[in-house]
Order: sequence, then structure tokens, then C-alpha cells
Amino acid sequence: MQKKYDAKKMVETAEHFFVSLGMSPLPQTFWQRSLLEKPRDREVECHASAWDLGMTGDLRVKMCIRVEGDDFLTIHHELGHDYYFQQYAALPPLFQSGANDGFHEGIGDTIALSVTPAYLKQIGLVDGFVDDPKADLNRLLQRALDAVAFLPFGKLIDEWRWRVFDGRTPPASYNASYWELRKKYQGIAPPVPRSEADFDPGAKYHVAANVPYTRYFIARILQYQFHRALCRAAGYAGPLHQCSIYGNAAAGQKLIAMLKLGASKPWADALFTISGERTMDAGALLDYYAPLSAWLDEQNRGERCGWD
Ligand SMILES: [Zn+2]
Repeated sequence: MQKKYDAKKMVETAEHFFVSLGMSPLPQTFWQRSLLEKPRDREVECHASAWDLGMTGDLRVKMCIRVEGDDFLTIHHELGHDYYFQQYAALPPLFQSGANDGFHEGIGDTIALSVTPAYLKQIGLVDGFVDDPKADLNRLLQRALDAVAFLPFGKLIDEWRWRVFDGRTPPASYNASYWELRKKYQGIAPPVPRSEADFDPGAKYHVAANVPYTRYFIARILQYQFHRALCRAAGYAGPLHQCSIYGNAAAGQKLIAMLKLGASKPWADALFTISGERTMDAGALLDYYAPLSAWLDEQNRGERCGWD
């Protein structure tokens, strides 16, 4: 607010990051046809999404942007979709898709990892950032509470759904089966008694809207692997969580080369193009959070962790 950012300026700032990597600005129609703010005169579906209408380069975002940090990162996520659309637009329609669903969800999140305090200072959005190890750890913990705590949830949504589809979970135990998985993977229980008169999985947008969910689990692994690869391409050798590829042409070229492949090659080839690796590797995520992990080991010394 102080810096006079509004929804449009937030999107322009995120766009500028992609442009700094060698990609084109968004088309003029993006600014005319996107929905960036919640309309006052009608109800809309505010769940953020990105579009290439009719595969014609008519790129758009639909999002009810609030002027705050979380939404700033979500804008990078959505523009990641639009820039993937932009980069593979020259391919035949069948190949105009992500290398797999997880790739499409992971591109913008990869860029969001480069939105570091040093980057925010560089673009003048944050003043007075000092490189304090304690604040650094706090930021890592804040991010981990979102990104790492998400992983078991990201896994269980489709596990529940696939059990429904293949009949292992009959209609009579839809809700009980959901909470079994919530307990098994997340270690959480409902705050009030639940029964089969309730349908808690339906409260998740992607279940109600029939959107596959494993893509987000995969994206949360891949984004760190992409980030590590791009930081290496940029010649960066410091702690992974402090790396920003902003303005780096070499990293941009790696990313663009992968985006341009769309779905024209197997995903392992696309992964190889950006990282020189052919298999998914959660090791990059561990690298990223290594300082936090070491601190937590210290804090939890002698404690019993888990819920079995
Ligand atoms: Zn998305």
C-alpha cells in the first residue's frame, strides 16, 4: 500500500520478471480482457486461473487480487501458465500443453522462489532489508509451513479420489476414507465428530470441480528442481533459498528452451533440457530447506516426532 501498488502494478511487476528472463511482454489484450479485481457489481468465481482462449494468444488471468504478499506470489504462479502458453504457441495444437500437468503448475512457482528479499529490495519494493540469519530462518519456516506441509495433503486428494474411482472406497465410506488418509498422511483429525452424512472432500475446490490434483504434488517437487537447475545455469553457488534468477539471461534461456517443447517430447526429456536430469528429485527441496532442517533437528532433539 505504502509503495502505491495496486492489482495492476503487482501483475506488471511479475510480468517484468518473466521479461527480464528474455520473454515477451504480455499482449495488450491481456490488460483489457483479464479480471484482476473483484467486481463490486456481481458475483464471480474468485479461484485464480490463467487462460489462453482458443489457443490464439489471447492470454488472460482471472483473479480477485488483494494487495498483499501471498497474492503477489500467486500472480507469479498464474503468469507461469500464461508464459508456458506463450512459449509453446507455435507448436501444433496437440502439443500445446505442459510436459505433464505438474510442469504447468510448477513454472510460476519456480519463479516465485526467486522472489527473495534481496530481489524485493532490488526492485524497490522493500526498504532496509538486512541479511539477518534469524530473519532468514523465519522466512524459510514460513515458506515451509506452506510448501512442505502441503505435500501430504497434495498426495492424499487423488489417492482418495482414485480409491473412489476403482471401487476400493464405496459410497458408504466416502467421508470415513477421507479422514483415514488425513490422519495417515497429515496426522490431523476432525475438530468435531463426522459421519457419512458429511462430505468433507467436496469442500476442496478441485474435488467439486473435477480437477486432477497430483499435478500440484508433482509441481511442488519439480519447482525446487527447476529452481536449482536455473540457479546453476546462472552460475549461482550460494544457499539455494537465497538465489534469485531475476534478469539472468543464461537461466532464462534454459527455462525458455524447456517451455518451448510444450508436450512435444516426453516429460523426462523436458526435465533434461532444463536440468540435465531425467528423474524427479526431491533432493532439491531438501537442499532448499537444509538450514531450516538443521535448526529443527536441534530444536527437536530428544523429542518424539510423529503420530502413530
Ligand atoms: Zn495453476
